[in-house]
Amino acid sequence: MDEIQRLILMQKKFFKSGKTLDYHFRINSLKKLKLCIDRYEKEIKKALFKDLHKPDFEIFVSETGFVLKELDFVIKHLKDWTKPQKVSTDLVNFPAKSYIYRQPFGVTLIISPWNYPFHLSIMPLVGAIAAGNTAIIKPSELSVHTSLILHKMFDECFDKSYLSVVAGDINTAEQLLNEKFDKIFYTGGSKVGKIVAKKAAEHLIPLTLELGGKSPAVVLSDANLKAAAKRIVWGKFFNAGQTCVSVDYAAIEESIYKKFKNILIDEVKKYSTMKRFEENYSHIINIKHFKRLVSLIEKSKTIYTRGYFEDKLLIYPTLIESDKDDAVMQDEIFGPILPILKFKNYMEIREFITSRPRPLSMYLFSQSRKMKDRVLNEIASGGITINDTLVHLTSSNLPFGGIGESGYGSYHGIYSFYEFSQARAVMDRSTLLDFPLRYPPYKGKLPLVKKLF
Ligand code: NAD
Repeated sequence: MDEIQRLILMQKKFFKSGKTLDYHFRINSLKKLKLCIDRYEKEIKKALFKDLHKPDFEIFVSETGFVLKELDFVIKHLKDWTKPQKVSTDLVNFPAKSYIYRQPFGVTLIISPWNYPFHLSIMPLVGAIAAGNTAIIKPSELSVHTSLILHKMFDECFDKSYLSVVAGDINTAEQLLNEKFDKIFYTGGSKVGKIVAKKAAEHLIPLTLELGGKSPAVVLSDANLKAAAKRIVWGKFFNAGQTCVSVDYAAIEESIYKKFKNILIDEVKKYSTMKRFEENYSHIINIKHFKRLVSLIEKSKTIYTRGYFEDKLLIYPTLIESDKDDAVMQDEIFGPILPILKFKNYMEIREFITSRPRPLSMYLFSQSRKMKDRVLNEIASGGITINDTLVHLTSSNLPFGGIGESGYGSYHGIYSFYEFSQARAVMDRSTLLDFPLRYPPYKGKLPLVKKLF
């Protein structure tokens, strides 16, 4: 038996002990996690800077502070969520009481990617703990410094038979996926997502897939163009575009295209020439991704950039005018390149988006109630923010997840609690009465039964 198998066995034993079922145990674990993050905050910041050159501000709002906010939310509401939910009993089952109990799955596996390596490891974990599971986190080998800190942090703060971090490369991930977990939560690209789904299927393990895709920003002619440009630029270049819900490209109506393009150029210029730019902007994770991104920049179509620097893994915000068939419009960009595309009208934009895989997010810029309703009804996406970018993801009251090729399942707030537990149907029947109606012989009983249904 290898180390991973031993660890899983220990967690299975721990889960079986029933400790995680206790509400107080869960709350104390969540509080402990909070304290642990506080204690390690400086080291986490350092690691994220080493991995991605992340600015302190972005670290707080999208990694540590974001997770702490979620922890506070879950700690505040967990008592209510764990209470059995009473539901009415239908007439045919009278007399009885009906409830929904949320039962944890057991030993869970969380596989996370490198772009928000802290947030995307801990955020699902909050749900796993809240719902009463044990967990093993497998962080990304690409964000190696953060993975090591996560490992150190959990080693110090938690018993590994309850919560543990297994840092390692793809081999480690494969090894883990060969084991029979009770639940897998995967965040990352869809290529690996398919591998994980196949592995999970072998043991019929319930799975959440948080994947990516090309999330468009749709700019209609009645939009507030200044606000749209500013917010698209912010959402695109946050973490240098290495965000699953980043604006992948902007689809713009022809009637405002030229005007909007000029406003956008001004905004990208302002962003790229801000004071202390270097302190406010992330770098690309590694040379492989740097080269992949650079190969997508067509010089002849570039309308604004300050270039790129391989020694620093830095690519300045880059604005390009694109056509539908360009290389940059095929796969998710996942970097600081913003293609803009001109469309005749909304119908053409709709046709373009709906004939491609359904995106994780989309952004609509319009002032018209009618157009907002049309887009909501006519174009599917995992989530959407209207007249801004990214921010729907920040609410603990909203489910976050994909649709179609951008994944399945959702989390954050109560949805994390749901995602890591099973809704168990409980009907508690009384023995005081026992109507003979359902028992054979059935002759003559059907008319009355039909009335009860
Ligand atoms: P990655 O390369 O770090 O891979 C993610 C995880 O999968 C890592 O832990 C890695 O070790 C593991 N892995 C890699 N190859 C594997 C294999 N063959 N078998 C088993 N496990 C394997 O991250 P990535 O895939 O480059 O992440 C970027 C993608 O993730 C983008 O598409 C992005 O949109 C998506 N993403 C989605 C969300 C979301 O919440 N929906 C969040 C962040 C990123």
